Amino acid sequence: MTIEDVRELMTLATGDEKHDESSTSTLDALWVLYDRVLRTDPSDPLWEGRDRFVLSKGHGPVALYAILAAKGFFPREWLGTSMRPGTRLGSHPDRRLVPGIEASTGSLGHGLPMAVGMALGLRAKGLDGPRVVVLVGDAELNEGTSWEGVMLAPHLGLGNLTMLVIDNHSSSIEMGHWRDRLGSFGWNVRLVDGHDHGQLTAAFDVGDAAVPVAVIADIPAGEW
Ligand SMILES: [Mg+2]
Repeated sequence: MTIEDVRELMTLATGDEKHDESSTSTLDALWVLYDRVLRTDPSDPLWEGRDRFVLSKGHGPVALYAILAAKGFFPREWLGTSMRPGTRLGSHPDRRLVPGIEASTGSLGHGLPMAVGMALGLRAKGLDGPRVVVLVGDAELNEGTSWEGVMLAPHLGLGNLTMLVIDNHSSSIEMGHWRDRLGSFGWNVRLVDGHDHGQLTAAFDVGDAAVPVAVIADIPAGEW
């Protein structure tokens, strides 16, 4: 199974809002996560020791759906039903309907606060193996709730939390460079080429981080 196979699977999703910029811009980073980084078990999606992934910008789920199908979380045939009436694979992912989806998302700005809660929950349970990775969009960081999470996570020393920012330069508010902005709140920030699998892999290696890590995956404006 390669990323090209995943691109092929994405074409099975033919409903509205299926594999446009919002989804395709996440593909390389998601593939690296699921192929090289995250510890998951498709045969036991709720295994307690798993790593948790949250797609905060839930309006672009098709790349994630295709990867979950490729990895065996659910049958590939489901992809052909996406965005259609009665489907499990809606235009926003639903954790009650889709194995491997950890959080129902689509209302922007909520994924990071939920991921902070998940990371705290793991700590409260004494589970120091699993990590939480949340994907946010650059325009999504215009949402105020994101910044509550941005402030709180370093304060709590959540080294088990990684925020992946897919920066395709779509933010409508000029907030300065994310590297400087997030760094000023105490995040360990890594800036990488959002299409470079080697750079992404290295950036996701956080070791025993004492603070949360932010991986800024740069996608040049106009590219997907
Ligand atoms: Mg964006």
